[in-house]
Amino acid sequence: MKIILLGPPGAGKGTIAKALTQYDASVQISTGDILRAAVAAGTELGKQAEAAMSAGNLVTDELIMGIMEQRLQEDDCKAGYLLDGFPRTIPQAEALQVLLEKMGEKLDAVLELQIPRDVIIDRLTTRRTCAQCGEIYNVKSKPPKVDGVCDVCGSNEIVQRDDETVEAINNRLEVYQAQTAPLSAFYQNTGLLVSVQTSDLSPVMTALKLKIDN
Ligand code: AMP
Repeated sequence: MKIILLGPPGAGKGTIAKALTQYDASVQISTGDILRAAVAAGTELGKQAEAAMSAGNLVTDELIMGIMEQRLQEDDCKAGYLLDGFPRTIPQAEALQVLLEKMGEKLDAVLELQIPRDVIIDRLTTRRTCAQCGEIYNVKSKPPKVDGVCDVCGSNEIVQRDDETVEAINNRLEVYQAQTAPLSAFYQNTGLLVSVQTSDLSPVMTALKLKIDN
């Protein structure tokens, strides 16, 4: 399946995408993860993206399209993909359409997750990430088994991301409203949009007969 997951930061796009990969051989593609890996590795791409990312702003459409044009043509995408965090602007969505047409591919659906602002802020300010392997924790709902130690890789670098401070989150939500929310109408016009109103992912997962592993 070829699905776009649309929704503000903290809506659960990554969790749903990961769960949907249990359905078939589709791969989750998160532009945020690709960029964070580039920043951590100190590559040229990482250097270009770093400042915008820490402030909660978007990196340029050119940079993102450069990444995605390459990524979507890799072999593991043939079985399908779940796009998590892309597209995020109308120009990205238009460029994706052109790219898919060129590749002879079609999207199956755009799943939009709608969630109240207070739930997002609570979810993101309590989120922690393992700086080594990327595993996600939550200080309230999913702390590591041993305080400060990653369950997956054993690292003791469980950190709050720069862009998960209250200031950066507020900015990311403004950026979402201004630049990404218009994609909802864009995909409504294509007939692909499915919107789910939820602050709790369990009904969605039940409907999809999927389990959340965190
Ligand atoms: P995410 O983990 O999806 O919230 O992405 C983290 C950050 O990476 C965002 O706040 C942006 O700075 C950048 N980013 C990720 N995906 C995109 C995109 N499609 N367009 C522009 N910037 C992006």
